[in-house]
Amino acid sequence: MAKITLDNLAHSYLRNPKSEDDFALKELNHDWADGEAYALLGSSGCGKSTLLNIISGLLHPSQGRILFDGKDVTNAPTTERNIAQVFQFPVVYDTMTVRENLAFPLKNRGADAAYVAARVQEIAGMIGMEATLDRKARGLTADAKQKISLGRGMVREDVNALLFDEPLTVIDPHMKWELRTQLKSLHHSFGHTMIYVTHDQTEALTFADKVVVMYDGRVVQIGTPEELFERPAHTFVGYFIGSPGMNLLPAEIAGTTARIDGVNIPMASGYGPLSGKLEIGVRPEFTRLSATEGLPVRIRRIEDVGRHKIVRADFQGTEINIIAEEGASIGADMTKVTFDAAQINVYANDWRVQGEAA
Ligand code: ADP
Ligand code: MG
Repeated sequence: MAKITLDNLAHSYLRNPKSEDDFALKELNHDWADGEAYALLGSSGCGKSTLLNIISGLLHPSQGRILFDGKDVTNAPTTERNIAQVFQFPVVYDTMTVRENLAFPLKNRGADAAYVAARVQEIAGMIGMEATLDRKARGLTADAKQKISLGRGMVREDVNALLFDEPLTVIDPHMKWELRTQLKSLHHSFGHTMIYVTHDQTEALTFADKVVVMYDGRVVQIGTPEELFERPAHTFVGYFIGSPGMNLLPAEIAGTTARIDGVNIPMASGYGPLSGKLEIGVRPEFTRLSATEGLPVRIRRIEDVGRHKIVRADFQGTEINIIAEEGASIGADMTKVTFDAAQINVYANDWRVQGEAA
């Protein structure tokens, strides 16, 4: 297992990149701590696979270095990096049995036969394929083949890191939770450095100690699920994480007051003069309906989602969502919204500005 350092790393698929826009991965400096479980979260096309393939050595970066425990591996081939990678779609040897597929990475490294047999049995249990060990991979469903790919990724205990690139895409929904749990328990028992790529926030937040959020080729925040929820560093994190995501409203900011269309909104923190595109961000959990004070809104609909209600409202064309308690009665006169002063974030050009406690 190893600490993985990305030093000034960037990648463009173009031969002569001219501007930052030409980079699929914008400049990045980051240490992936030894033994930590990370999720790499972002929408399709934001650069997740590009980053993963650079770490494993499938792709050579156009700029910067990769170090494993301080040793430069930028020019080292995949095999020398000693990494297990599982892809979105199955990679299995069709003519081999399930058992032979699972044993392959171990045999390849000259592991002892008794150890291989025991370890294959253990992994087969984790992926629920003990009964199919002697079947040829050919003819199995995509779902079963992907489980073999996962098993092959997990079988070696001596890898520097385990990289998973949206590995549950073709897995049956009811098996997803089960396999994710197995990956977590694998992490607990072996303490591998793991990077798990997903575009699904629930998967990311339940799998990882730390979540790395990417947007448009850039890492915009690295944090615990709590940090991403409470203090989104970028408007994208606020919007992408949470259900529904954070409310974002253009505002003027003066000291401890946010001003929207003549309505003053008190904040618990103060801000110096700010310039650029200014917005406040408040999660629906910290937004309340009121009959007497706040920002006037138009209520479009109320959804009952069991644990609570989601009120979908609108302020001059901008959606505002409010989470109300399950039993809350929402009167026809409640057409204003207020925000919990301590939970208001301020953004300048999409980046969070740290306020001073007032
Ligand atoms: P993700 O895995 O987050 O969906 P990718 O890393 O696959 O994103 O892609 C990031 C960007 O790089 C996208 O705009 C994609 O179109 C582009 N891209 C990916 N692979 C290649 C390639 N081999 N050649 C050119 N462009 C690519
Ligand atoms: Mg991808």
